[in-house]
Amino acid sequence: MVTRVDSHIVAAQLVAAEGVAAPGYRGRFAPSPTGALHFGSLAAALGSYADARAAGGEWLLRMEDVDRQRERRGAADAILRTLEAFGFQWDGEVLYQSQRDPAYAAALEALQRADLVYPCCCTRKEVQAMGRSGPEGVVYPGTCRVGPRFARARYALRLRVPQREAVAQDLRRGAVRQHLGREVGDFVLRRVDGLFAYQLAVVVDDAEQGVTHVVRGADLLLSTPRQVYLQQLLGYASPWYLHLPLALDAAGRKLSKQDAAAPVDPARPLPALLQAWRFLGQAPPPTEIGDAAGFWAWAEARWERRRLPM
Ligand code: GLU
Repeated sequence: MVTRVDSHIVAAQLVAAEGVAAPGYRGRFAPSPTGALHFGSLAAALGSYADARAAGGEWLLRMEDVDRQRERRGAADAILRTLEAFGFQWDGEVLYQSQRDPAYAAALEALQRADLVYPCCCTRKEVQAMGRSGPEGVVYPGTCRVGPRFARARYALRLRVPQREAVAQDLRRGAVRQHLGREVGDFVLRRVDGLFAYQLAVVVDDAEQGVTHVVRGADLLLSTPRQVYLQQLLGYASPWYLHLPLALDAAGRKLSKQDAAAPVDPARPLPALLQAWRFLGQAPPPTEIGDAAGFWAWAEARWERRRLPM
């Protein structure tokens, strides 16, 4: 029975990959308001939007302002205005993570009840000094697992991870495997400053918003097995993942809003849309397209996953 259900789902995915309607598809774009929208985030927005629309699906917008420290004033509104100018049309209201603390607290509590969470009072410096380095930064060696080492007033909450692999499914790359114990370590769910961590927030929101397809930049590829593991613990279904190629600057670094990478110009959407479309390996549009609306009228049915560069 399980096998039959699985093969049915896989068949539906293959159909969606060819741009035919996939019933129930719900995608999303989830920018962090840490600066203006730049080419890299435009490419992620375009990829997730085109993939959703080609499948006849919905596309939600979520403002990932969970990290109040990194937020730039006015950035959230500027991102929304820019997306509008570029012709993106989202379904429903924008969800703001800054208003979702009760939902994150409930998920955290469920994990606490299962005895999977412990307080950690190690400082960042101490973690750096004690931990091995892994593919996603320092691997926390679990020092506070047996009880906090010091009675410090401020502590983070960490998830106890098992010594085993977590596996995420990426529609282009196939299985993405990561050994939780060796490569990630016990990771933070609530930070020392009391803010909920991205990994927890994104998993709760994707589940509660009923997201079926997460299309985003490849910088988050190695976060995905951790997110899948959290979904399993919380009893959520895992969405499909599709990680897009990352736009790099001339020095080979990821473009980042925080580093004030050149923002896209909301007054001239078409050239940037065409550039992002090309960057994602898609077939060239006809030259007579004159504006963003014309671009979308042509592009929505022409998105092809198989053309994406790795
Ligand atoms: N908020 C994240 C970012 O702007 C994206 C998170 C996600 O798509 O899962 O990089």
